Amino acid sequence: MEKIASFTINHIKLQPGVYVSRKDKVGAETITTFDLRMTSPNEEPVMNTAEVHTMEHLGATFLRNHKDYKDKVIYFGPMGCRTGFYMLLAGDLESRDVVPLVTEMYEFMRDFEGDVPGASAMDCGNYLDMNLNMAKLLAKNYLDKVLYGIKEDRLVYPQ
Ligand SMILES: [Zn+2]
Repeated sequence: MEKIASFTINHIKLQPGVYVSRKDKVGAETITTFDLRMTSPNEEPVMNTAEVHTMEHLGATFLRNHKDYKDKVIYFGPMGCRTGFYMLLAGDLESRDVVPLVTEMYEFMRDFEGDVPGASAMDCGNYLDMNLNMAKLLAKNYLDKVLYGIKEDRLVYPQ
């Protein structure tokens, strides 16, 4: 079988950032998949599942309620390696275009207080597996170390 596109990225050189992972055509529409890379693969510890799960609930809730983007959101969810998230939006977009949206989403996570949306037995398959405090800390780190003042080398995949 052929190696799929996301396995051809050089994960050894990859640093945390906001990258375009791929673009797919579905009929006349382009779907852009963003790689929201939060930790350096194989270099830093990965995120634990409870905080990843919490960020998934918060991020999906944020995106699907966003006044400008809610109708463009296809998907938001974690990478299996737990080093980041994929965000899929309708439209032919570049990483620079979504930095304000991604920044707003992680500020929402960082500042979130109260009950995590969808964290109940009725709404989720593993609702006890949540860690809001760690989710908030990881969101803060991604904002402070990556998103605020992001430069070109964190917006385009390394060769
Ligand atoms: Zn869940």
